[in-house]
Amino acid sequence: MRFNGLRRAVLGLLLVALGLAGAAQGPRLNPALPLVHVDNGPNSAAAQKAHYVVLVSLDGFRWDYAERDHATHLLAIGRQGVWAPEGMLPSFPSLTFPNHLTIVTGLYPEHHGIVANSFYDPARHARYAISDDKAVTDGSWYSGVPLWSLAESQGMRTACLFWPGSEAEIAGHRPTWYARFDAKTQATDAVLQARIDDAVALLKLPDAERPHFITVYYSEPDHEGHKYGPDAPETRAAALKMDVMVAKLKAALDKTHLPIDLVVVSDHGMAKVEGPWITLETFADLRGFETVGPLLYAQSEEDRQRVYNQLKRVSSQFMVYRLKYVPPALHGNENPRMGDPVVIATGPYAIRAQAPPTGKPDLPPNAGAHGYDPKLVPQMKASFFAEGPDIVRGKTVKPFENVNLYPWMAHMLGLQAAKSDGDLNILSGTLRDNGGPAPQAAGEDKVEPKKE
Ligand SMILES: [Zn+2]
Repeated sequence: MRFNGLRRAVLGLLLVALGLAGAAQGPRLNPALPLVHVDNGPNSAAAQKAHYVVLVSLDGFRWDYAERDHATHLLAIGRQGVWAPEGMLPSFPSLTFPNHLTIVTGLYPEHHGIVANSFYDPARHARYAISDDKAVTDGSWYSGVPLWSLAESQGMRTACLFWPGSEAEIAGHRPTWYARFDAKTQATDAVLQARIDDAVALLKLPDAERPHFITVYYSEPDHEGHKYGPDAPETRAAALKMDVMVAKLKAALDKTHLPIDLVVVSDHGMAKVEGPWITLETFADLRGFETVGPLLYAQSEEDRQRVYNQLKRVSSQFMVYRLKYVPPALHGNENPRMGDPVVIATGPYAIRAQAPPTGKPDLPPNAGAHGYDPKLVPQMKASFFAEGPDIVRGKTVKPFENVNLYPWMAHMLGLQAAKSDGDLNILSGTLRDNGGPAPQAAGEDKVEPKKE
C-alpha cells in the first residue's frame, strides 16, 4: 500500500513536471490528432513579418454544392473575398492524391509523379498506393517542391494538419508539424474538431515558432459522394457539415487577430456513375500486363500496340491512346507511370482493367466517382473560396486550372516560388497588390522624389 502511495505521488509529480514543461514549451494540442514535430529551427526575421495562409481542402466538394445546398458560410467567404462560381479545374486525372499534390506543387500530376491514387512505376518495378504507408512516406516517389518544403527552405515554419504527401520528406524538407493519416479516424467528430484546435494552438506559439503556412484536410464529403452519389441527401448533409466546420475554423482564426488568408478548395467534384463496370480484359488479352485499376503496363512494345489496336473503337464509352498521343491539353503524355496504352472514359463510366480474381466478391461500381476529364465531365470541377488581408473583396473568377494556386499562395506568403506549371498572372487580379512587389519593397524602390 505504502509503495503504491509513493508511486502515485511520484507519478503525480512527474505529471505536474510534464504539464509545466508542456505549458512552457509546446502548443496545447488536441490529443485526438497527434502531431509529429520536426525541429526546423525558428522562423527567420523576414518570415516572422510575413502573412499567414491557411489552406483547407474539402475532399470531393463539387463546385456547385455550395450554392445548391446553401453552404452559407463558404458563400460568405466568397463574398468577403473571391470565389469561382463556375468552379476550379482539377488536373487530370481528377483523383485525390494527384490533385492534392498539384495544389501544393503547381505541377501537373505527370510532373510531380503521383499520377493516380495507385499506380505502377515500370522503371522502379514497384507500386505506389495510398493505402501503402511505406510508399506514401517515401519521398523518392514525389517530384516538385511542395509549399511547405518551399517555405521551410526559405526560413518559414509550416504545419500540415494532414495533406497528401506531407508525411514524406520532399525536396529535402518536412513540415515542422505534421499529422499521420489514419483513414479509420479521419472523419470522427473529435478528429474534425482537433484540426481546428491544433491550428489555433500552433498559431498561439511565439513569433519565432508560429507556422505561417498551415494545411487542413477533410475527407468529406467525398466519402458520401462515392457511397450514395452526388445528389443524395447524405452527400448534401455532409457538404453542409463541412460548411459548418469551415465556419468554426474561420471564427477560431479570426480570434487570433493574425493577418491570415483563408483558402478553401476541393481536389475534384463527383459524378453519378452510369452503367455497370466496363472491364478492359473482355476486349483485349491482358496476359503479361501489370494492371492497377484502369491503368495498363505492358512488358513489350508489341503488347502495347496489340492491346491499343484491340481496344481502339470497341466502345464509345472510352478512348484509347498510346501514351505519347494522349491529348496535350490533359498534360498526361510524358510519364510512364500513366501506363501505355492509356484508356480515358468519355463519360462517368466505371472502367477497370480486370475483374477481381475468382473467389473475391465482384461488387458493382460506387454510386459516385471522379477521375474524369473535366471538359468531358464538368461535374469534376472543384471549389475555390478565399478571403484575407492579401485578397480583394467581392470578386469572382472564371474557371482556372488548379496548378495556378501555387505561385499565388507563395506570393501571399512572400516566398520565391519554385518553377511550376502555374502562372501568377492567372490569379493576380484577386490580389490587393495585383501580384506585384510587396508595398514596402515598392516603397524602398522609390529613392528619388518625384520631379515636378
Ligand atoms: Zn478526393
